Amino acid sequence: MAKIKYKDRLKVLFVTSEAAPLAKAGGLGDVAGSLPKVLARDYHMEVRIVLPKYKSINMEKFPAEQIMNDIKLKMPNNHSEKMDVYKTYLPGTIIPVYLLDMPELFVGEDVYDHNVQGRDTHIPFVYFSKAAIELVKAMDWKPDIIHIQDWMMGLIPKWLKTTYLDNAFFKDTSVVLTVHNIAYQGKLDYKSAKLFGLKKSQFKRVSKFNPSDEINILGEAILNSDMINTVSPNYARELLTKKYGFGLQKLLRFKKKNFTGILNGIDYSNFDPRTNPDTPVKYWIENLDKKVENKLILQKKFGLTQSPDLPLICAITRLTHQKGLDLIDDVLKELTDMGAQFIILGSGAESIEKIFIKAEKEYPKAVAAEMRFDADLAQTIYAGSDMLLMPSRFEPCGLSQIIAMRFGTIPIVRHTGGLADTVTDGTTGFVFRHYDKNAFLWAIRRAVDVYYNQKDHWRKMQTNAMKEDFSWTSSTKKYLWLYKKAIQNHKQFLKARDESK
Ligand code: ADP
Repeated sequence: MAKIKYKDRLKVLFVTSEAAPLAKAGGLGDVAGSLPKVLARDYHMEVRIVLPKYKSINMEKFPAEQIMNDIKLKMPNNHSEKMDVYKTYLPGTIIPVYLLDMPELFVGEDVYDHNVQGRDTHIPFVYFSKAAIELVKAMDWKPDIIHIQDWMMGLIPKWLKTTYLDNAFFKDTSVVLTVHNIAYQGKLDYKSAKLFGLKKSQFKRVSKFNPSDEINILGEAILNSDMINTVSPNYARELLTKKYGFGLQKLLRFKKKNFTGILNGIDYSNFDPRTNPDTPVKYWIENLDKKVENKLILQKKFGLTQSPDLPLICAITRLTHQKGLDLIDDVLKELTDMGAQFIILGSGAESIEKIFIKAEKEYPKAVAAEMRFDADLAQTIYAGSDMLLMPSRFEPCGLSQIIAMRFGTIPIVRHTGGLADTVTDGTTGFVFRHYDKNAFLWAIRRAVDVYYNQKDHWRKMQTNAMKEDFSWTSSTKKYLWLYKKAIQNHKQFLKARDESK
């Protein structure tokens, strides 16, 4: 690779609501915690991360130094907020993570639970994103790219194209938006425009593409960012359709030239059955027989019948409509009839938790329901299971199936979004198309049949899956392209603006 001169290093600010291992609720956390490392390593980018200082961040595990206190923030609605800023590093790197301490806004324990009566639930993230803009000014660090994730920071490009348009500090700053999940858009009352220092009329354009009487923050981000991507090529195609676009398909089609799909990678050093601290008995392809010992440990831990021969199936997931958990509920009886066992680790909707708690009571020796978020236990389950279920209604990329494959745990997935891009039927997993019980059951039966009756083929599938390479290496090259294209688009925007003066 050609040597990059210090002054030519791209400066990238990640503004994000999650970054593993500090704060994670799902795949977004994995991405924001791993992509910056590879951008810094392979392309010498100077990356900095801004994250809320949630109560749930373990400050003993991730010691941070307070670098600013009582910074007065000019908040959009003409009132001022104060915040303290702490600096830590992404573990194992020299990538700074700035934790913005705004205790009146981020009141909850969970990443996304900061409800205060009488306040719109979106407000903490909107104010956090404003604070991130103010922070880089306070640090006098001019990013070439602000890389925002999902709707939460969606007003940053809007502000840069309105409030800060004539601010020399941000003249050369472009914005890239990554859509991790279009189902979450951040909708709120037009009355809130004032709170953001903007006028209601400035939010109307998005509704030309998606008639609505609310502000749509993700829509604003799509409209105003210099480049937009989503997290797999197949999901990028799906998002242009009515079925998957959640109302934003027309807007995305309008921005099609500046919209692409880049497959997520994972940081394999965190998901390696040879070294993973939560994998009780370490293994790899050459001693794959050892994997079963992890199964026996899991069965014991969860009070399931201990047997090396019964197929142990798992799901590690947020409990939301998206994930197709009703289909799992529909097949549980047939699953146990096949002699299979099922462990689910999940947190989210209480109505879904109830389904699995009930199933655990009904089949105490065959079903275990752990209704919580536990990143360490997740690894133990990936290591000890034979198969992973992901019958998602839609799935932007999906990381669980990628992680499972590295552990030689065969994914059974619906052909949608990134699941279609990453799992090959009969080679690394089992894939079904239609969202219905019979199609799902057919895929499970095929998997269980190979598991019981074609042991060599099962072993071959496991090794195929373990050898798959979804590391960031090829995707980061595409992010470099995305950033350069964003810079080009921003320059064109400024030129067109100058010419129209
Ligand atoms: P999404 O981002 O929609 O939640 P992904 O499959 O992209 O789905 O990423 C899910 C990530 O979160 C994976 O790393 C998975 O292991 C992890 N995960 C999901 N639910 C839990 C849970 N209850 N406990 C621990 N880890 C979980």
